[in-house]
Amino acid sequence: MLIDAHCHASMFEDVEKELQNAKKANVNLLISNSVDFESMQKNIELAKKYKEIKILLGMHPEEVLNMQKKEIDEAFDFIEKNIKECIGIGETGLDYKYAETKEQKEWQIDCFSRHIEIAKKYDLAIEAHSRRAQSVVLNMLEKAGAKNVLLHWFYADTKTVKKAMSLEYFISVGPSIISNESLKTIIENYPIEKILFETDCPAILFNGERVDSSWIQRVAKRVAEIKGISFGEIEEITENNAKKLFGTKLNV
Ligand SMILES: [Zn+2]
Repeated sequence: MLIDAHCHASMFEDVEKELQNAKKANVNLLISNSVDFESMQKNIELAKKYKEIKILLGMHPEEVLNMQKKEIDEAFDFIEKNIKECIGIGETGLDYKYAETKEQKEWQIDCFSRHIEIAKKYDLAIEAHSRRAQSVVLNMLEKAGAKNVLLHWFYADTKTVKKAMSLEYFISVGPSIISNESLKTIIENYPIEKILFETDCPAILFNGERVDSSWIQRVAKRVAEIKGISFGEIEEITENNAKKLFGTKLNV
């Protein structure tokens, strides 16, 4: 079975059609991340309705910049009250494309720390976003002693990639592997036991084409090619990787 380890099902216009298309490409499980209060509520409904959708609860680093302390507190209360509905915490992390000032960065760091603490408290996996802040994200996770980490859409310099490897964090690879040569080098060197696939759909375009979860098949083919293993093998390995990351909560 192929798995889309990072998408946003709460933003799908037609959930059933998306699931059907994914299934045709043997993508039978979608791990849907939350970004704000509304998407957390929507994701909980989706997880109750569709066995193919598992969810994470959390607030995207871009979204937390628009939230006041009171709203953040309420959102964390909501996460704790609904903790049994999710299999992990996400989408969380840092995004320094959006956090430009020192205050904004500190605010994201504060919110990310709280996500890490919740994940630790309930022994849940974390899906972390780290655009333009990869080493800060890694340092924070390491310092907090976070286990079961997935670095989503991970792309970093050699030193930071090595650090992620030594911390034994998982990384998820998206459609950019199809054409990005420097990402290819990262994947060549990263242990296959720590790789998952993702699309981050539906808000992603690749060469002008809208990406959906069926694209996992193309990503898997490309990674199998890079790693010099068969499609069947990569399918089995990445399914096991997801089981290791999410533990019994994945329940598939
Ligand atoms: Zn995302």
